[in-house]
Amino acid sequence: MKRFFLPLLVVSVLLSACNSSDNGAPRLEKTVILISIDGMRSDYIDWFDTPNLDRLIAEGVHANEGMIPVYPSKTFPNHYSIVTGLLPSNHGIVSNNMYDPEMDKAFTISDREAVESEAWWGDGEPIWTAVQKQGAKAATYFWVGSEAPFEGIRPEHWYVYDGSVPGSDRVDQALTWLDLPDEERPRFISLYFSEVDDAGHWNGPRAEETAQAVANVDGYIGRLLDGLETRSLYDRVNIMVVSDHGMSQLSPDRVVALDEYIDASDIRYSDGSPLIGLWPVEGKTREIYEALDGAHPNLHVWLKDDMPEQFKYADHVRIPPIIGHVDDGWSIARTREWANDNPERFTGGTHGYDNQLASMRALFVGHGPAFRDGVTVEPFLNVELYNVMAGIMDIEPSPNDGTAGSLDAILQ
Ligand SMILES: [Zn+2]
Repeated sequence: MKRFFLPLLVVSVLLSACNSSDNGAPRLEKTVILISIDGMRSDYIDWFDTPNLDRLIAEGVHANEGMIPVYPSKTFPNHYSIVTGLLPSNHGIVSNNMYDPEMDKAFTISDREAVESEAWWGDGEPIWTAVQKQGAKAATYFWVGSEAPFEGIRPEHWYVYDGSVPGSDRVDQALTWLDLPDEERPRFISLYFSEVDDAGHWNGPRAEETAQAVANVDGYIGRLLDGLETRSLYDRVNIMVVSDHGMSQLSPDRVVALDEYIDASDIRYSDGSPLIGLWPVEGKTREIYEALDGAHPNLHVWLKDDMPEQFKYADHVRIPPIIGHVDDGWSIARTREWANDNPERFTGGTHGYDNQLASMRALFVGHGPAFRDGVTVEPFLNVELYNVMAGIMDIEPSPNDGTAGSLDAILQ
């Protein structure tokens, strides 16, 4: 019996070695673990204690002045831009809250049907779909868009979003995926952590609670690094730690109240603060725009067709007829009365401002065999990451808004 077993084992190992290679390279080196720390402002790295991220930075690549989010600097558009390489006007997730006049439907991030409906997500192919189409496997432990099929395809492994799942469980599942045999092991793995964003919203970017949330998530990353080291994988797989946007401090003294300028009954709102998306009733668009334009020195509004080119935000049916935002640290309320009655709503932090602001800059750290060692990179728009991931995973990229080769300087 043993005599037969040994040759079979040898054959099986040889087969497995063949399976694990394309173009002669082992597959592990083509693995990407993409980790999002929602709301991790890029300079939290300097403000707070992050030993595990610091280790990845020292041995990898860091955008030390941050990565630039797409406009608007909100969670859903940015997560989907990172995994599609597309601007929101091309992937169609134009904000966290949207109205689609063709479907005559509204989208909110807590609407299960919308979050799982291909009708909302079908404009931009996420990278896990490209991975799966090209014969490899993808696994998402949460990512914006991963709950909806694209052309009927979902990641091999994915979950309905549940913010109560402990971060350590998410990390342990990623490590379990890496333990799978070659032919089943995902080439793309995503992880997502929300608690830094939650703490920033409730308490503000510089708060002790925010520092603690950053420490917690840094701890999850430490758990991942320990697990990789135990498996001798620390230098063999690629880790990309990103965030979607930064965070600014609010104040009850910095609130623009729309009812001081316009009649709210004339409008459908698709976005609140610090960004406004206004869908005026028929024939009222020009009137409402003119009432708001120049009404307050810290409020900036545009008609959709006149949106400045720098925002790259005009060409989708879901982008509202009137778009506006306030200056850094300001808020928008529909009525002054509500703002006065709810001052505690303006003591924490938020995001959604001009995507070029330093306060909105996001985190980017890359580590692993594909990345150079101890290198910093100038700020770049997050749509550039798609081609980087496709290149590392040896996946043919779908058409996207990144520029192929733009980040070659960070790669080995
Ligand atoms: Zn976010």
